[in-house]
Amino acid sequence: MFSDQDGSAASRRTGETAPVGAREALLGIIEGDAEELVASFYRTFLKHEEAANFLSHSVVQERLSHSLCRWLRAFFRDEPDDTEFAARQKHIGEVHARIKIPIHLVLEGASLVKSGIARRLPASSLTGEEMAAVLILLDERVDLAMRLMSEAYFIGTRQRAQVDEAYRLFSLGQDISMERESQRAALMEWSQSALFGLFGGQGNATLKPISASSFGLWLRHRAGMMFQGAAALDPIEGIMQQIDSVLLPKIADTRTGDASGLPQAVERLQAAIEEINFLLAELFQGAAALENGRDPLTRTLNRRFLPSILSREISLATTSGAAFCVLMIDIDHFKRINDQGGHSAGDLVLRQIADVILDSVRQSDFVFRYGGEEFLVALVETRLEDAVRLAERIRKTFTEQSLRLPDGGELTVTASIGVAAFDGHPDHAYLVNAADKALYRAKEMGRNRVETALPSDHDAPARQDAV
Ligand code: GH3
Ligand code: MG
Ligand code: MG
Repeated sequence: MFSDQDGSAASRRTGETAPVGAREALLGIIEGDAEELVASFYRTFLKHEEAANFLSHSVVQERLSHSLCRWLRAFFRDEPDDTEFAARQKHIGEVHARIKIPIHLVLEGASLVKSGIARRLPASSLTGEEMAAVLILLDERVDLAMRLMSEAYFIGTRQRAQVDEAYRLFSLGQDISMERESQRAALMEWSQSALFGLFGGQGNATLKPISASSFGLWLRHRAGMMFQGAAALDPIEGIMQQIDSVLLPKIADTRTGDASGLPQAVERLQAAIEEINFLLAELFQGAAALENGRDPLTRTLNRRFLPSILSREISLATTSGAAFCVLMIDIDHFKRINDQGGHSAGDLVLRQIADVILDSVRQSDFVFRYGGEEFLVALVETRLEDAVRLAERIRKTFTEQSLRLPDGGELTVTASIGVAAFDGHPDHAYLVNAADKALYRAKEMGRNRVETALPSDHDAPARQDAV
């Protein structure tokens, strides 16, 4: 039987006693088998497609194998409340955040280590009771390490995301049109020098790859950051690779041997450059819309900013205790306007509808285009009574204000509005859905009216795609 040890921090934390023998038994298993444990960790992880991306590099494998061995050996020697132990786990978490190892892979790795050790227990001479004590200690230690690592990982990742976002916004704030012109010029310069190299009598001078040109470097290093996630980025990279690995070698071949294929190769090169130019224009166009985050038709905020803005407002309201409300506005029978006057009439009316809403709220409020003819308004520091009063005013303005049609005619519209007040729930989807449910009640009750969310409307998100 193990003897009990009162001084262990793990014991103090859990209120249980951690047997000295449990720790010794664990240390024995790890000391003897650390390398085999790490090896089996790698065997399993290398089969995992996502993890293999991080582990397949031989340097990583070698270094990580060592540090994993060291981590395991030192792990059960330290006291868990040892500041050094905590600092080490935090450091590892920070490194994982820096190299962007997904946290779920780290947790999976920890499970592998845990089960690897647990599987070795039956071969030991421990009694059932002793094994249970070892398993509890193993669980506590690994879980504590994971908690410390995840915390550091989360802080590191959040800081990085903030810096990335700040940089991206800063980059977008730079003169976009100037950047577009200079990159277009850089692309032209490369293509001209490639063609000049071809026909300018430089004999066997090698053609400089586009990926090494000033345009190629810009695309990889600056554009990747500025236009994060833009659809045009990958195709441009793909075409550049095609140019460097297929077209340029083909051109080089025709220069040194049979020249009959040269015109065709040059034509393909020019087509590829034209395609890049087209995609580049698309990339910058997308950025211009993103620059102010507004929907081009209505000038209201793009819905994709809704989660970040609402989350921020909810945390402000939570800390300050200030009220916060949301209006969901949907135009009644809007389809009829399209049916009668065509889509362009609908567009013109929609723009004026947005103006009515934008003119009714304060500079500090947020107006989003939530759907086709549906708008969400976030009213900051506003109590429910005031939000309802404002909603009423907007509803009334619609009934009174004539809106222009493209043919010179005029019309008025009516709107149904749902109002919901922030009730402390940290998930913004609940607030949005409460307003949505109130809106649908307003529709059901005959349209052209304002309805307030009932307490039960706050219960659960109804529409799957709410935010
Ligand atoms: P109600 O809300 O009162 O139930 O009726 P509705 O006709 O307004 O509702 P529904 O949501 O069924 O139709 C909304 C219509 O709005 C569908 C679509 O033709 C039109 N719409 C949505 N976005 C736009 C847009 O950007 N431009 C134009 N012209 N029409 C749009
Ligand atoms: Mg409608
Ligand atoms: Mg609608």
